[in-house]
Amino acid sequence: MKKETILVVEDEEKIARLLELELEYEGYQVTKVMDGLEAFDAYRSGKWDLVLLDVMLPGLSGIELLRRIRINDKHTPVLLLTAKGSVEDKVSGLDYGANDYITKPFQIEEVLARIRAALRFKEVTEVEQIEVDTDLLTFADLKINQRTREVYRGEGSVDLTPREYDLLVYLLTNKRQVLNRDQILEAVWGYDFLGDTNVVDVYIRYVRKKLDLPNMPALIHTVRGVGYVLKEAK
Ligand code: CA
Repeated sequence: MKKETILVVEDEEKIARLLELELEYEGYQVTKVMDGLEAFDAYRSGKWDLVLLDVMLPGLSGIELLRRIRINDKHTPVLLLTAKGSVEDKVSGLDYGANDYITKPFQIEEVLARIRAALRFKEVTEVEQIEVDTDLLTFADLKINQRTREVYRGEGSVDLTPREYDLLVYLLTNKRQVLNRDQILEAVWGYDFLGDTNVVDVYIRYVRKKLDLPNMPALIHTVRGVGYVLKEAK
């Protein structure tokens, strides 16, 4: 199994060393940085499963570093190490998107437990993210939620019959590819369909009528002598 990577930013040598040793012992791959500016470079040049960040740092404060990290990265868990009693640091840290904070002096077991919790949470949210992404098909201003079978063009919802829906999903998953009637027939109606291939033309017409409202660029295009393609309007 790949080791999880942790960026440790802490300017107090003894604490930094302790964190590094303990985390490595727990099986994490640790990079230790002791200055705020260096830490931002290290953050940008690596891929981190978690950042453990001291607030009081030379170069760049932990809070400022966190703010910069969160501009483009909402997902990497960041745990703050704050001085005892510094309520202000905790509050602004959470405001800027820290996942948790640990007050110094800390028990190493507490740090390890918080890290495990943050990494577990990250895993769960990543899995949900992937599921959401694969359920949603989008193209231009067209959106299809495959979980609910809802279709939207721009702001408006499009009401399709099950067959029309299957036809549109097939065109969309093969977007920008010209599909002939037999291909469409096989994919949407099945191999054992015995009717006329004209049924494809009929259903394309139905879907177009619902999808391409007046003043909207057409998405489904006829390729004469071949078939159909879903692509952007020229
Ligand atoms: Ca410090």
